[in-house]
Amino acid sequence: MKIITDSRCTEYSARGHPERPERVSRTVEALKAQDKLELTWSEPASVADKVILRAHTPQHLEQIQKSSDFDADTPAYPNIAEHARRSVGGALQALQSARAGEASFSLMRPPGHHATRERAMGFCYFNSIAIAALEARAGGCKRVAVFDFDVHHGNGTEDILLDQPGCAFISIHQYPAYPGTGLDNRGDNCLNFPVPPATPRLEYRAILSKAFDALKKFKPDMVAVSAGFDAYRQDPLADGTLEAEDYYWLGETIRRMEIPAFSVLEGGYSTALPELILAYLSGVNG
Ligand SMILES: [Zn+2]
Repeated sequence: MKIITDSRCTEYSARGHPERPERVSRTVEALKAQDKLELTWSEPASVADKVILRAHTPQHLEQIQKSSDFDADTPAYPNIAEHARRSVGGALQALQSARAGEASFSLMRPPGHHATRERAMGFCYFNSIAIAALEARAGGCKRVAVFDFDVHHGNGTEDILLDQPGCAFISIHQYPAYPGTGLDNRGDNCLNFPVPPATPRLEYRAILSKAFDALKKFKPDMVAVSAGFDAYRQDPLADGTLEAEDYYWLGETIRRMEIPAFSVLEGGYSTALPELILAYLSGVNG
């Protein structure tokens, strides 16, 4: 199991913002302190503009360099363009590992799944998972699925992958919740599985199972996972009901598909985040 991270991703923050550096730094500490999982460590790949431009407009690429905030949740931190680019590089490195037959997890920030083709929003600047999915396609994968279990709808990934040949987007998320999308399917390739707030845990699991059925039906040759951990029952940003063992189950279910897969950190804002990530990785690793 390969973990991709870069300590520079902890070098920006805003007072009171839930998407904070400790999400990654405490997880790195926890992963280094454990000995159940054998981990190798790697750094993000470098990222060419043309790879970003498969998913984003040139105007967006330019806008990210500017110094005005994108919205109240999504500040123009100093050097955010470089931070966002390294996070994309984490996803690309994770993809490379998956193609080489090694399960992998990009432990980076900022997250990406709310960033649309032309807009930064919801703590997200570049859409790392969509960029990696399109890179997988360009590199010869025939059928690439993004499986998004973050509690929020990956509206940006949907925006970018809608009707893209050889791509599917499958999302399980709370509805209603931020960003207000994801009630219905879109096009032929974007399948949404909304979960009402405070849905009992076993019902949440049943909806996740249905989403896995849809994933298998697509018959992907590469699975890119938007791994958000904010459907956890104690997460402060949503009303999910999942437990750590459900994240183990998610990882295990992905492993049992026996399809090359990689995962990218999206959300997850509770202090239990390191434990949840470890549970998930344990499931992926088996
Ligand atoms: Zn989220």
